[in-house]
Formats: sequence, structure tokens, C-alpha cells
Amino acid sequence: MTAMMRAAVAVGYGKPLEIREYPIPEPGAGELLIKLETCGVCHSDLDVRKGSTAPPESTFPLILGHEGVGIVVRRGPGCNVIEEGARVGLPWMHDTCGHCRECLTGHESFCAEHRGHSFDVNGGFAEYAIMKEAYTVVIPEAISSFDAAPLLCAGVTAYGGLQKADLAPGKTCAIFGIGGLGQYAIQLAKAAGAIVVAIDANPEKLEIARRLGADHAILAADDPGGQIRDIGGADACINFAPTNRVWDDIVTATNPLGRVVSVAQVPEPVSLNLEWLIYTGIRVTGSSVGTRQELRDLLDLGASLKLAIDIETIPLSRADEALDRLERGEVDGRQVIDFSLE
Ligand SMILES: [Zn+2]
Ligand SMILES: [Zn+2]
Repeated sequence: MTAMMRAAVAVGYGKPLEIREYPIPEPGAGELLIKLETCGVCHSDLDVRKGSTAPPESTFPLILGHEGVGIVVRRGPGCNVIEEGARVGLPWMHDTCGHCRECLTGHESFCAEHRGHSFDVNGGFAEYAIMKEAYTVVIPEAISSFDAAPLLCAGVTAYGGLQKADLAPGKTCAIFGIGGLGQYAIQLAKAAGAIVVAIDANPEKLEIARRLGADHAILAADDPGGQIRDIGGADACINFAPTNRVWDDIVTATNPLGRVVSVAQVPEPVSLNLEWLIYTGIRVTGSSVGTRQELRDLLDLGASLKLAIDIETIPLSRADEALDRLERGEVDGRQVIDFSLE
């Protein structure tokens, strides 16, 4: 009899995830089969269900999830780096083309041909998943499978954004949007020695920001641009808030030669004054998840810094409800599926 596994599956735009049974997949050449212990629930999973940022509908049915942690239980032909029994992470990136300029110059997360778990290929909302060995990271022993899961997308996306912010001790970094990513960004920016300003529309999120070490916490409605100017301006502004309403504050707050890093997916345009760029020399850039090396560096850092956000555990059967809660803005940190729960 074929061994079966349960999975939470997207079946079409706007439709609830379904729990379905599939045969446990066989790893092909260069692939690993992993047995999941945990998997975080990300806003991008919600975007796929909604169809807002989503693959073509022909990709469905599709197993969502790209913050998985599990044990390697079988290796396909040609795998000789990661041992059976190793605890590994299933991140956003399934693979990239490996030969374009972006791939060859250390910017593989911008590869136009990259394929994502839960977008192009099946992800980690399943008892078992297939990964490419070359794109698999080993989780350090010091990080639990619960704390590791959200590092694989939320954490590395925050880390990737910070790498582009040119932080140094004493520089001021304004972080807009204190959801899971912003909460990691605060901890990482503090570890880099920066003075951290947190901005959010929700006073409870500002409380969390203070608890995580933010030096200043400002309500989005209270003129953050002006308040940041009053304390000397920001050398970097990083946006994790899913709105273009932050833009005017960012323009006001950013110091000459500063950096503006866009991380949240905001489809609405902003107005950019070209003279402002000329007279300030500010660099505006974007950041998308992170490379394999950035993920390794983040996990090493996570092992020593105890990077953590608030985690709520849920069973796989409640994956769809978890997306509903995310949509209603009811989640402060991260929901993580615990595969040992029924
Ligand atoms: Zn994600
Ligand atoms: Zn490439």
C-alpha cells in the first residue's frame, strides 16, 4: 500500500484551503524528502489564496507553506552533503537558474527564473515535502523548530532588507511596520548598533517594539517624519508596512546620503521628486527575501542572539483559519503549524 500524507492545499483563488491526502513523494536526483515538524504561516500564503500576488490558477492544487522545519528521511541519487536525520529548513526559495548574472554575483533572490515553495512548487503545509539539497539549510541545534520556522521567510526577508541599509553603530534606523518582519528587524538593527525608531499604526505593536529594544516608538498618525527629523533624522528607513502612506514620512525623515529600503509588497505607486534625489544623494532600493548565504548567516546569528517573535502553535487542520486570522490582522507575531498536534 502506498504511504500517504496530509497536506493543506490551495485549490483556487478565493477558495478555502482543503486538507487532502497525497502519496508521500519520492525524492529525485539531488532532492531530499523531509518530514515536517513545524511550518510558519506567512502573509504570502494568504496572497496566494486571495489571488492578489499569486501564480497562474493552472498551478493549483498547490501545497502552501515556505517556513518549514523538518528531518531528512530519504535522499535521492547524488545527494552527498546533508545526512539523513539532519534537521533542515524549507525556505521560500526552491531553486534558481544558477547561471544568470544575478545568480552568479550573489544576488540569487532576484533571479528571474527562481522558483518558490508555495508559489511555483509544493511547500511545507504537508507532513512531507521535497527539497533540492543544494538549496537546503541545516538548522543550528540551539534554535528550536518553532523559533527556526519564521526565520526562513520573515526573518531572512528582514535580514536581507537590513543588509541593504548600510547600518553601523550610532546610525539611526527607522523601521516602518512592526509585524513579524519588523520585529526581527528591530532586534537585528539593535544588534548592528543602530539607534532604532519603530513606527506603526497600532499602539500595541509599539509596546512590542519597545520590549524588543526600540529606542523610540512613534504612532503612524503622529507625524513620524517630523518626529524623526526632531531627533536628527534617519540614516536608513526600511518599510515593512503594506501601504504607500509611509512614503511622505520616509521622504521627510531620511537624511542626505541615507538609504530607503522597500520590503513590504505595496502595489500602489508613490510620487518621487527627482530633484530630491539629486540634492540628497539618497539611495532607494528594494529587497526580496534573501540568499542562501544570508539565510545561513541569519541562522548563525539567531543561534547566538536568541532572535524570537511571539509564536502561536496550531494544527495543520487549522491552516485555512490561520490565513483568515492573518487577513483580519489578529496575529501579533507568527502562527506556526505543529505537526505533532491533531
Ligand atoms: Zn513568506
Ligand atoms: Zn538565475
